[in-house]
Amino acid sequence: MSRFLLPVYQTMEVYTPGEQPRDRTYLKLNTNEFPFPPAPAVVQAVAAEADALALYPDPTCKALRQSLAERHGIEWEQVFVANGSDDILNFAFWAYGGAKTAKFPDITYGFYTVFAQLHQVPCEQIPLQEDFTVNWRDYLTGEGMVVLANPNAPTGLALAQGEIEAILSANRQRVVVVDEAYVDFGGESVLPLLRQYDNLLIVRTFSKSWALAGGRLGYALGSRELIADLEKLKYATNPYAINRMTMAAGLAALEEDTYYADCCHEIAEIREDTACSLRRLGFFVLPSLTNFLFVRHPQIDGGLLYRMLKEKGILVRHFDSLRIRDFNRITIGTGEQMEQLVTAITDCLQEVAST
Ligand SMILES: *Cc1c(COP(=O)(O)O)cnc(C)c1O
Repeated sequence: MSRFLLPVYQTMEVYTPGEQPRDRTYLKLNTNEFPFPPAPAVVQAVAAEADALALYPDPTCKALRQSLAERHGIEWEQVFVANGSDDILNFAFWAYGGAKTAKFPDITYGFYTVFAQLHQVPCEQIPLQEDFTVNWRDYLTGEGMVVLANPNAPTGLALAQGEIEAILSANRQRVVVVDEAYVDFGGESVLPLLRQYDNLLIVRTFSKSWALAGGRLGYALGSRELIADLEKLKYATNPYAINRMTMAAGLAALEEDTYYADCCHEIAEIREDTACSLRRLGFFVLPSLTNFLFVRHPQIDGGLLYRMLKEKGILVRHFDSLRIRDFNRITIGTGEQMEQLVTAITDCLQEVAST
């Protein structure tokens, strides 16, 4: 850190992304990426667009927003696209945070606290219940924004639409951000609530269910007014944030939606099989509506299992924080990859038992 950095940023904590090591080839089950390749038409669209790289992309992103709007049955002015959904969350805290206390769960996507700090938004991190569910009643009061990942990460558990509606209607003078990063793996979207609630901002990403984590593409759905706010901040920072190739990839992916829907369906099936296998090995496995499982074993601590698997060439996620230290979050890969995982975990358990 230089002596020039403003004091307010000197103590700021930043987000720790899951590791992306380059020292050897790992089976990566740590950052919830899509285990299948993008549809061939997406790769072709990206290659074709490279010819036009000398020219700026369309800053309005109109074609992509129109395609997303059609898919969700809304107007294109109700769709915002950004360079990953992290950018949208950043804009949301920036636009709607202010001095009022923002509320989100204590165990949720780690970036929320980072954005709150960055924009100096006071926040209340409300403890999940003993069973790791969100108690929606905790979010009925308060003036500041509410941010909920639904399904939640890293737990994989979700609130029902009616519970989120209760939060939305309790106070229409605050924005409720619903981060639906994982909704395509079996969750229930709050999209039908957009019509009635102009304080609802839905945030989605192409990183998890559209095989585009490397392309960086996220989108938000909301009232025209909310979307205009986000557009304003985008035009105040980086109007060309979505590059040509990413825009082409997103458009082509939406055309191939049945491919992605089939893959998501398959991932959900593999998830259930993997959950069964892990339970048979003695794991406590939270029921998941996402492309990951949150698991704990009585004989092996989360940090140890993480390290042992890493030695065997498999990366999973371990969060070294109080309530979830015993757990690991494991991304669902292909069927073959999950067999490899279960075999490796069986070996780990035997090694631990014999010491
Ligand atoms: C992965 C993830 C994001 C970030 O997605 P990007 O579009 O890759 O920035 C946002 N929210 C949650 C809950 C996530 O798990």
